[in-house]
Amino acid sequence: MLTDKFPRAILAHTPTPIEKLANLSNELGGPEIWIKRDDCTGLAFGGNKARQLEYYIGEAIEQGADTILITSAVQSNYLRSAVAAARKYGMDVEVQLEERVPDRPSEYYHSGNPYLMRLMGAKLHRYPVGEDEEGADNAMFERAEHLRKAGKVPYVVPLAGHHTPIGALGYVDCAEELLTQSNEKNGGFDMIITASGSGVTHTGLLVGLRARGSNIPVYGICVRRDQSAQFERVFSKTKLVAQMIGWGGEILSSDVKLTDATLAPGYGQLNAAVEEAINMAARLEGLLVDPVYTGKALAGLIHLVRTGEVADKRRLLFIHTGGTPALFGYPELVE
Ligand SMILES: *Cc1c(COP(=O)(O)O)cnc(C)c1O
Repeated sequence: MLTDKFPRAILAHTPTPIEKLANLSNELGGPEIWIKRDDCTGLAFGGNKARQLEYYIGEAIEQGADTILITSAVQSNYLRSAVAAARKYGMDVEVQLEERVPDRPSEYYHSGNPYLMRLMGAKLHRYPVGEDEEGADNAMFERAEHLRKAGKVPYVVPLAGHHTPIGALGYVDCAEELLTQSNEKNGGFDMIITASGSGVTHTGLLVGLRARGSNIPVYGICVRRDQSAQFERVFSKTKLVAQMIGWGGEILSSDVKLTDATLAPGYGQLNAAVEEAINMAARLEGLLVDPVYTGKALAGLIHLVRTGEVADKRRLLFIHTGGTPALFGYPELVE
């Protein structure tokens, strides 16, 4: 593997299955739609963070850490997965919940991911704003300093874009995995579509594929920032990830494909296209996608099919990055 030299903790059940979504493909009448079930990575409801955390927890173990600290949104799958990973390796864990989504009902704060974090006994902190990555990270670094003085060995999983994206290594692995799965049976894939949030999944897949000589396009659907801000984030990360794995090649700017067509009104907020995508997946396929990430990403895929943008493709592969517990924080979906 391209990532062999990095310390790694085993967390994810892999390889995750690839399946055809026959009913959704028929309904849309465009390319065949296939799905890679990274919601089935197994760690406390699964999702993409299980793959990413393998490398952070690997480094934490190497440093002899006894406490994991991490910050993100209240309904964050990253926090829930980090709590589970820490527990699996016998560590304490402190999470900081940021106020990132306006006007949410009480279920958002008490059900789904925050419920699971409490169940696993995480220590919870609050952070009053949701768009201050530096500030939120710094609060965690200060807390880590405090713990260090008390004799603990803390490890902070950082959030802000300028930190080395160690978690992308998990998606370099996923790229290699899906190339071995892209075969006779499914005929191979002409495009990969994934949610693009921190950009770690998007970048890991893109660099991993190119480093293995594959030119399959990777289309990111913006779930957090608009297209131009997200472009900067993903493009700059491609250089860092290439460097990490010692790949001498380069990702061109034209290779970073993004759309923010289904992002409005913003992170973690519903719109008609997202509600439609969630309902189509549930009713046509018995497949659960969430309001924050995979529902938005699937809405983006549907948008690309309907606008004819992917009319020349035979087979699309949608990455189901997980997130299903967040459904319980959005009761209005069935009201
Ligand atoms: C975090 C997350 C994403 C976004 O992945 P990034 O690597 O941050 O871009 C997508 N889907 C789900 C369910 C997530 O939890």
